[in-house]
Amino acid sequence: MLVRCFILFFMANIAQANWHQQSFDVMGTSAHVEFWEPDEQKARQLIERVVSEMQRIDATMSPYIESSELSRINNSAANHPVKISEELFQLLKKSVRFSEMTKGAFDITFASVGYLYDYRERKAPSDETIEQRKELINFRSMHFDDSELSVSFTKQGVRIDLGGIAKGHAVDNCISLLEKAGIQNAFVQAGGDSRLLGDKKGRLWTIGIRHPREKDKVLTQVPLENVAISTSGDYERFFIDKGERIHHIINPKSGKSASDSISVSIIASDSTTADALSTSVFVLGPEKGLQLINQLPGISAIIIDKNGKLQYSDDLLAQ
Ligand code: AMP
Ligand code: MG
Repeated sequence: MLVRCFILFFMANIAQANWHQQSFDVMGTSAHVEFWEPDEQKARQLIERVVSEMQRIDATMSPYIESSELSRINNSAANHPVKISEELFQLLKKSVRFSEMTKGAFDITFASVGYLYDYRERKAPSDETIEQRKELINFRSMHFDDSELSVSFTKQGVRIDLGGIAKGHAVDNCISLLEKAGIQNAFVQAGGDSRLLGDKKGRLWTIGIRHPREKDKVLTQVPLENVAISTSGDYERFFIDKGERIHHIINPKSGKSASDSISVSIIASDSTTADALSTSVFVLGPEKGLQLINQLPGISAIIIDKNGKLQYSDDLLAQ
């Protein structure tokens, strides 16, 4: 009996030792990677590659890093076409496709007004400034040259920010590098964007959707495998001014925080799509947002509306 207990304990420990995980800070948020790999040394190298891939994307796409490719665009694209990497070029064009799909709810030129908000410093632009600059929010002001891989802005004052899609892109890249290295069971997360490779060795992964008003409380656990899930919430970066919640998801039509939802989670097969659509549906609000998601095969939505009520896409209701 004692020997059997010992063997079971020993086997459980070996199984546990094959799981590797690391949490780290990147892209202004916390990230996490976890996967199954019996080779300890290979696992350590893969964790390093995941961390540096996320750091590389941050260094390329952050609007806060002066040397990033994105800052180069913001500094010069209104004066002349700016040549950029194929990766950034394709992500910008993908952003435009999401703008078209969401009738402008997703628009990376939101930053033309968005850059004037500073949530930590509790600063927001005046109504007058918003009115003056609002017309600069328009994804059609970006011009792409496919043969040169360059981008230019058709107006002075336009700015872009990939905060609504870059983390999803980073998660996809990391899942892809793990998959190419032969990993079959993995979880990669950057802020509200997560993607799962396979299952958790015979079990489903459980992804928690946090309570939007109680920081450490999980509202619901979603059992998933081999998909991406992204959550956008009005609690991520915000301050309250005269009873109004000023937060980081901007309605391109008003230049102000979108207010029809509190939290939106999107499930899709890749993280870039889940990320862009969670931001988009947040802006669209539950009614238009669910209309859009119900038309898109293989994509699901869980929304907490402004009254705190949970709403689901049709496919989830049918289950
Ligand atoms: P997420 O947490 O994925 O919803 O991303 C929120 C981030 O997306 C914000 O911090 C902004 O950087 C960016 N963002 C805000 N509003 C929009 C918008 N209407 N379209 C695209 N990106 C946006
Ligand atoms: Mg997003």
